[in-house]
Amino acid sequence: MSKQILVLPGDGIGPEIVAEAVKVLQRIDARDGLGLELVFDELGGAAYDKYGSPLADETLERARAADAVLLGAVGGPKWDALDPALRPERGLLKIRAELGLFGNLRPAILYPQLANASTLKAEVVAGLDILIVRELTGGIYFGQPRGTRTLDNGERQAYDTLPYSESEVRRIAKVGFDMARLRGKKLCSVDKANVLASSQLWRAIVEQVATAYPDVALSHMYVDNAAMQLVRAPKQFDVIVTDNMFGDILSDQASMLTGSIGMLPSASLDANNKGMYEPCHGSAPDIAGQGIANPLATILSVAMLLRYSFAQADSADAIERAVGKVLDSGLRTADIWSDGFTKVGTAAMGDAVVAAL
Ligand code: NAD
Repeated sequence: MSKQILVLPGDGIGPEIVAEAVKVLQRIDARDGLGLELVFDELGGAAYDKYGSPLADETLERARAADAVLLGAVGGPKWDALDPALRPERGLLKIRAELGLFGNLRPAILYPQLANASTLKAEVVAGLDILIVRELTGGIYFGQPRGTRTLDNGERQAYDTLPYSESEVRRIAKVGFDMARLRGKKLCSVDKANVLASSQLWRAIVEQVATAYPDVALSHMYVDNAAMQLVRAPKQFDVIVTDNMFGDILSDQASMLTGSIGMLPSASLDANNKGMYEPCHGSAPDIAGQGIANPLATILSVAMLLRYSFAQADSADAIERAVGKVLDSGLRTADIWSDGFTKVGTAAMGDAVVAAL
């Protein structure tokens, strides 16, 4: 039976980097006989231009029907003046919410060939391979009530709410334990249980879930300490599981340990491991159309897609190995280039990965 992937190139560099990821998908499909079927549509600004909405109903239907979604990136100055409800980013938030993509996986892997690209000392980050599992559809970014009110003394006061239900914590904790099981069997749950009621429930539920995973070593860390440990000794971590806001901040911090946003893939999964896969970076309007963007984050997102949604670990490994081989050969896009290496554009980098496969 064929597996359908909805491909949404998006805006800015999105179409350039997705074109290379599609080349890799087609090559691995032909090589490993995966039976992939690709369907193309638009999201973000490109969707607004085509359909008058950043996420058209028919696109959402295609996303529901597909087995996985591959996304480039959305946004750009062309659409910045639009009504907030029509802006490209709204399409992205809506597709995540509509598909119930509550589990956001953001690996921070430093290819040894790029150890000097980090702002941290090479020995602190060389060989870094951590995975942050972030809860994506709950917590303070969605909690009600929220707003601004006027106090009796006439001063305005703004407020947000940080709610987590047991079931929301349980399902993301399970994703964390499952991922740890596939990797180094170490899970660190990050919270602020010394202060926040939501974190106290979070910790209690994570402890409950842990009883079903005796093979995974669980630890807990307060988020302020986790932020410090991530730059002090990041290699102590294997998998981190945390809430929406803490995960937002820590995953950006972790991604910069690797020094190269153009290298970092991500996955957002629902309860059945159906997922949307995209690079961590945005649409980079400053370099769009120049053919110089790094396509490797999107190509590595394809590897995650095959691993997590299609259970094709061998094909995923092959893509990751091919990326390593290309870096070994000295090819670099401008964002990761330094003296002594060969500077190549987006298409040449994609072609090199295809050739290495
Ligand atoms: P950005 O990630 O697009 O760019 C930040 C910097 O990194 C830029 O200098 C850019 O040139 C560089 N960069 C990013 N990806 C690169 C790649 N693959 N190769 C080489 N260099 C790369 O972030 P931004 O500039 O803050 O945002 C630009 C637009 O992207 C905005 O409209 C923003 O809303 C949107 N955005 C979208 C997503 C998404 O689609 N998931 C995420 C973040 C930002």
